[in-house]
Amino acid sequence: MDCIFCKIAGHEMAANIVFEDDDVMAFRDINPQAPIHLLIVPKKHLGSIMEINEENGEIINKIIRTAQNLARQNNIDSKGFRLVVNTGNDGGQTVGHLHFHLLGGRFMTWPPG
Ligand code: AMP
Repeated sequence: MDCIFCKIAGHEMAANIVFEDDDVMAFRDINPQAPIHLLIVPKKHLGSIMEINEENGEIINKIIRTAQNLARQNNIDSKGFRLVVNTGNDGGQTVGHLHFHLLGGRFMTWPPG
């Protein structure tokens, strides 16, 4: 499958990787929207949050734990941050591999637009 985040997860494409274990990878967004903008992805391909089910749902726990650790490492755990999962066309999803944006280092406005 021609999926850029699968290629990054498989080390076939370069990225600025900040964390990796057997199931999860985190890397810097190529077009950052905040001083800290990381993407956290499952290594196994899932198209979007809509593909999460009872069998594979543990990956969400792992991703959230990774987000917590990365927030601590980047010193934004107390100040706050935003964790975003754009889903589908109206949700603004442009890469068809589930990813969580971890955004921080500035004040986030609402609504997101
Ligand atoms: P979304 O619009 O929610 O699907 O987010 C996709 C994100 O992936 C965007 O913020 C892009 O800047 C980012 N992105 C696309 N290609 C790469 C890449 N090769 N390395 C890192 N980030 C990327």
